[in-house]
Formats: sequence, C-alpha cells, structure tokens
Amino acid sequence: MQKTLTQGTTLRRGDTGFDRAVLGTSFTTRDPGRRPDIVVQANDLGEVIAAVRQANQDDMHIGMCSGGHSWAQNHIRDGGMMLDLARLKSIEINPTQMTAVIGPAVLAGELNLALVPHKLFFPTAHAWTVGMGGFLLQGGFGWNSRNLGVGCQNVIGIDVVLADGTLVHASETENADLFWAARGAGPGFFGVVVRFHLRLHKRAKFIGMKMQVFRIKHLEEVLAWADRVGPSVSPNVEFQMVMNPKATLINAHGIEVVAPVMADSWKEARELLAFMSNSPVRSKASFTLPLLPMSLNFMMKAGEKTLFLSNTRWSADNMWMDTPIDPLLPAIRGIADTQPPHPSHVLWLNWNGPVQRPDMAFSQEHRTYLALYCGLGKGVDEAKHANWATDHMKALEPWSRGIQLADENLARRPSKFVSDANMVRLDQARAKYDPLGRFHPWMGRIS
Ligand SMILES: Cc1cc2nc3c(=O)[nH]c(=O)nc-3n(C[C@H](O)[C@H](O)[C@H](O)COP(=O)(O)OP(=O)(O)OC[C@H]3O[C@@H](n4cnc5c(N)ncnc54)[C@H](O)[C@@H]3O)c2cc1C
Repeated sequence: MQKTLTQGTTLRRGDTGFDRAVLGTSFTTRDPGRRPDIVVQANDLGEVIAAVRQANQDDMHIGMCSGGHSWAQNHIRDGGMMLDLARLKSIEINPTQMTAVIGPAVLAGELNLALVPHKLFFPTAHAWTVGMGGFLLQGGFGWNSRNLGVGCQNVIGIDVVLADGTLVHASETENADLFWAARGAGPGFFGVVVRFHLRLHKRAKFIGMKMQVFRIKHLEEVLAWADRVGPSVSPNVEFQMVMNPKATLINAHGIEVVAPVMADSWKEARELLAFMSNSPVRSKASFTLPLLPMSLNFMMKAGEKTLFLSNTRWSADNMWMDTPIDPLLPAIRGIADTQPPHPSHVLWLNWNGPVQRPDMAFSQEHRTYLALYCGLGKGVDEAKHANWATDHMKALEPWSRGIQLADENLARRPSKFVSDANMVRLDQARAKYDPLGRFHPWMGRIS
C-alpha cells in the first residue's frame, strides 16, 4: 500500500488488501469477478484532482463510487482506476436560505439526521445507508418525492472534476449542459461530482405510516385493488406493496401494503389514508398496523433492517409500466411462485408522477413501478436463483416502458432509461466533456 500526499491511498492489483478495498466498497457482497488495476481512496478534493490527472497520464479509464449501493456494482470494472469517494462526507446547511452543500458520500440517513434540528427536509433515499452521490445522479426516488420531486430535481448546483482534472461549477446558468446531464445520467455520468448543492424543504409536521399485511393467496385481488385506486392516491402518500417471503408479523409469504405519509397533522394523514381503511380487500388482511407517527430515521432503519440486509448477495431488475395490472397478474403470480427466500422481495410502487418536470436528463417515469430484488444469504444456492430477477423482467418486456437507473441491471438486460431525445443530448455532452472516454459509460452500453 502506498500513501502520497496528493493522490489518496493507492492500492494496486496484488497488493495486500486490494480485493478488500475493491469489494468492500459495495453494499452487495456479490463478487462480480471484475477488478480494476488500481484503487484510489481519495480523502479530499485535491486528491480527487490528482487521481484524475494520474488516470490521464497513465491512460486509464475511471470508475467511481460514493456510497457503493449500485446493485450492479457499476464502479467495479475490469482494468483502469477505481476512484473511491467514500471519505467525501461534508454537510453544510444554510437554514436561512434553505440550502445545503454536501459531499457525495454523505448517506441518506446522515443527511436526514443533520436536517432534523433545523426542521428541514430533503427527499433522500429510503434506506439509511444509500449514498447521496449515486442516488442524486440517477434521479432519486426519495421520501415524499411524488410531492417534492425526485432527488435530482432538488439539486441546484454541482462541483465537478472533469476528465482533464479541472474543477468546474455547474448550475442552470453555468455549464448548463453539464448540470442538465448530471440530473439523470446516473452510473454513466462523465465527471466526478465532489459537492452537491441542494434545495431543502420544510419538514412535514406529521410523518407516519399505515400497513396492512395479506397472505400471498390474496395477491391478485390486492394488486387489482391497488392498481385501481393508485392514480387517485395523494402524492403525500407513498403507496406501495412488498411481496415478502417472511411478511411482517405473519412470518409467511405475504403482501405488505405499506403507506408512509407526510402531512400537516395526524388528522390530515388519516384522511389521506382513508382509501386503505375503506378498501374492499381490507377485511382479508391478516394484520393491520393503524396509522402511527414515526420518525423518518426509524422508518429508514427499520425498512433496511427488515428488507435490505447487508452481508447478502444482491441483484435487482425493474421496469416501468403504464398498462393496467390485469394482463400482468399471471406473470406476477409466477414471480411470487418462484420467489427466492427472504430477504428477496418484490416492490410494486404506485408512482403516477407529474405531467411535467424541469428539463433534465432524467426523463422516464410512468404509472407504476415493479422491481425485483434477489437477496441471497450465506448458504443459499446462487445458481438456482441468480437469474430470477432478470428472467422475469425479460418475460414482462412487452409491457415495459423502460427502467429506472436506481435499480438498474443494464449489464445483463440493456433497457431504455431516458427518453430517446435525451439519450442523444447525453451522448453529445459526453463527447464534449469527456472526449477521450476517460469515465466508463453505462454497463451494457459500450461507447
Ligand atoms: C438498500 C438500497 C436501497 C435503495 N433505495 C433507493 C431509494 O429509496 N430510491 C432510489 O432512487 N434509489 C434507491 N436505491 C438505489 C440507489 O439510489 C442507487 O444504487 C445509487 O446509485 C446509490 O448511490 P451510491 O452513491 O450509494 O452508489 P455508488 O455505487 O457509489 O454509485 C453508483 C454509480 O453512480 C456513479 N457515481 C457515484 N458517485 C459519483 C460521483 N460522486 N461522481 C460521479 N459519479 C458518481 C458511479 O457511476 C457509480 O457507479 C437503493 C439501493 C440500495 C442498495
């Protein structure tokens, strides 16, 4: 291991600790089999710039990570440099302006906790340990995002180290094409974002959740009901369903209908959730958790501890749909019947986003979202389940309107992730800012 003042801790293939430094960056414990030639762990901006300059000097491609939560382990590529940004964790909050400037490796839970004393809020990722860097670049389906906009919509500026090692600021008025690209390019962005400037929101007075749990035999009727009511559910309610082999309290294969809500009061929250209290399937629930106030910190931790276990070999895939659910029910039953053991799960999310967003690379969202998360613990046979998510999504492709980059699986199932027009603009911006292709493009799209 070698430490220089300018470049961060550097490890090369064959060095003691090299594999740990590479694989230790990932949330998933899967070993993708790929290895860079060199890992640089940057401690500050100067070290990021030095690393990018070295990559230029040695003609290396760069892959980078902040929180390491890419399901596909996009940052671990064969050859070149892996730039680990996990130490860039600063948080500066300006309560008067309702803005913050954060390092890319700040975790969702860390940002949320820092905002609580100021009664301020940002739509972070749902799980505590997700890095803000990758989350904000890919779009960012955060807490209360149906109401406040996806994460990247609340980014007002970025500080970026470009492929030639220069540091620039980008916003709507400065390097606007770079700023446009950073709001949605996700794991194909072509610069190192060292700081995000964020717009904050007032924190809701009431934050809570209601849940109903059904046995899996009720799958079709619960899904059909949810699909029917989804479009009329308030944007302040995150209406979703999780197919879980070990569903809460029934400890058996079931469907958790979960509805976190943010409102001005408990009374308002109850009204927003009336669609669940009055639903025709309600009487079939094996267990109901009434609307309870809960801290966001608790929900972030509880969700992660029950569904997104660490020390697990994860893979994921997803699709957007516009179609009503009925024709998909047999295929979804097939997904349930073949579901790998807990913590593997299936998410159905009522989205119905707004008709218009600001002009940014992020450009693909539809009525509902379906994602499959295969999580294999120690001893569970990888060969038996490894293709579960990919194969079922392939079978559903006729109904797919494309994918979210949040849960991307591009290396194994290339799919459309922005509008066609935005893909052209992204390629143009890449050609301008990274003409030599210093930064790896999206996996599954070699350019
Ligand atoms: C348990 C879990 C829960 C999740 N929950 C949500 C959720 O609620 N909503 C949601 O939208 N997504 C969610 N995701 C998906 C998550 O947002 C993406 O995987 C995101 O990329 C993670 O960001 P990261 O910084 O942790 O990941 P990383 O793996 O570090 O980053 C992913 C990619 O982004 C690029 N990148 C990262 N940092 C930088 C940077 N500073 N500069 C330039 N490029 C960079 C790189 O190409 C990198 O490969 C979740 C993922 C997991 C594992």
